[in-house]
Amino acid sequence: MTAVPDPREDTRIDWLTADSIWWGGRLRKGVALRVGPNGQAKPVPAEMAPRDGTRHFPGTLLPGLIDAHVHAALVDLATVRAGGIAAVWDLGGVPTTLRALATRADRQAQRAAPGPGQRAASAPGTGSGQPTASASSPGSGSGSGSGSGSGQREADPAGTAQRDVGADRGAGPGEARLPLIRYAGQFLIAPGGYPSDRSWAPAGSWREVTSAADAGAAVAEAWSAGATLIKVTAHTGGPTLPQPTLRALVDAAHAAALRVVVHAEGPGTVAAAFEAGADLLAHTPWTEPLPDNLIRACASRMTWISTLDIHGYGEPDPAHEVALDNLRRFIEHGGTVRYGTDLGNGPLPPAVNPRELRALRSAGLAPDEILLSMTESDSPTISWIPGGLTLSPDTFADTLATARVVDDSIHLRPL
Ligand SMILES: [Zn+2]
Repeated sequence: MTAVPDPREDTRIDWLTADSIWWGGRLRKGVALRVGPNGQAKPVPAEMAPRDGTRHFPGTLLPGLIDAHVHAALVDLATVRAGGIAAVWDLGGVPTTLRALATRADRQAQRAAPGPGQRAASAPGTGSGQPTASASSPGSGSGSGSGSGSGQREADPAGTAQRDVGADRGAGPGEARLPLIRYAGQFLIAPGGYPSDRSWAPAGSWREVTSAADAGAAVAEAWSAGATLIKVTAHTGGPTLPQPTLRALVDAAHAAALRVVVHAEGPGTVAAAFEAGADLLAHTPWTEPLPDNLIRACASRMTWISTLDIHGYGEPDPAHEVALDNLRRFIEHGGTVRYGTDLGNGPLPPAVNPRELRALRSAGLAPDEILLSMTESDSPTISWIPGGLTLSPDTFADTLATARVVDDSIHLRPL
């Protein structure tokens, strides 16, 4: 006998299977997900999963879906999570509020992760709403469970799953579950600049940067407040940061291993962001068609967060066309796109937004590429499409909009 434990008997490891699993950029069958003690899931051949304790999901499992542009102060994040979004990036808000929300989300995820006799808690900051092996006892899926559970049956074509809110360990009593949150903290702005002139921007959600010398202090404050991104605004509707200040912000952020997201609005702002070395744009540029050489330059090293649906909310306005054309050319030149909606800005569905997905299709992304733009391969979260993922262009967006976040509140019969 060997002293090396059989992974199939390691109680710190969770095993999940599904009819299909989308991972690593493609839809697969015959694989299982092995969720390690650190919360990270990895697809492995299905034969590796133990017969006992493996949870089988009807439909498709995939890495947790991420919305890379939200504002927590302007939207109810618990609703967003219930709408299938496992994690969000907050791109501008009051740092203390965001830190409290992010901490609550991490705490919920860590409570949800381990169960009695099951795997250990995730390390702080890496937790997630990921599943445990706490499958309900045989028969409890029949609706005879607690009162709160019996009325909560959800879309489940195979009839094998049941949501039982009463047994939800991840959130405290009356506490709605949140998506995991990473955040930029304050908008870093020119004195008097956008969005300090907007009524929707809460006091404390922006910080004026007065000089290149002040840039380091601004980044240090954000870092101390727990920011894992830096958000800078460049809006020609008001004062904008001088280029040396913008560059100093980017340099200070990069020195702290933080990526910089720029809100670029108005002539010259995309070029300014690119030339300063910024990593992401918070929105696909929409105020004017960009010259092809600038788009090609951006595509060589920037990521654009899509936010196409804010232009018309389903009734595309002229800015939608401009943005779509810019994004199409950015994609043609090999640019990297992240799905983001700017939730909190206007009448957007607080969920996976099928209109944003359809717009990304129109911009030239294939369904697999859209999924890549919504996920991270090392995500500690898992999403689930109970009816199964279809990659057909016609039905893809609506199927994806049925996604749910996997956690211990989903009870399945053991395989
Ligand atoms: Zn925004």
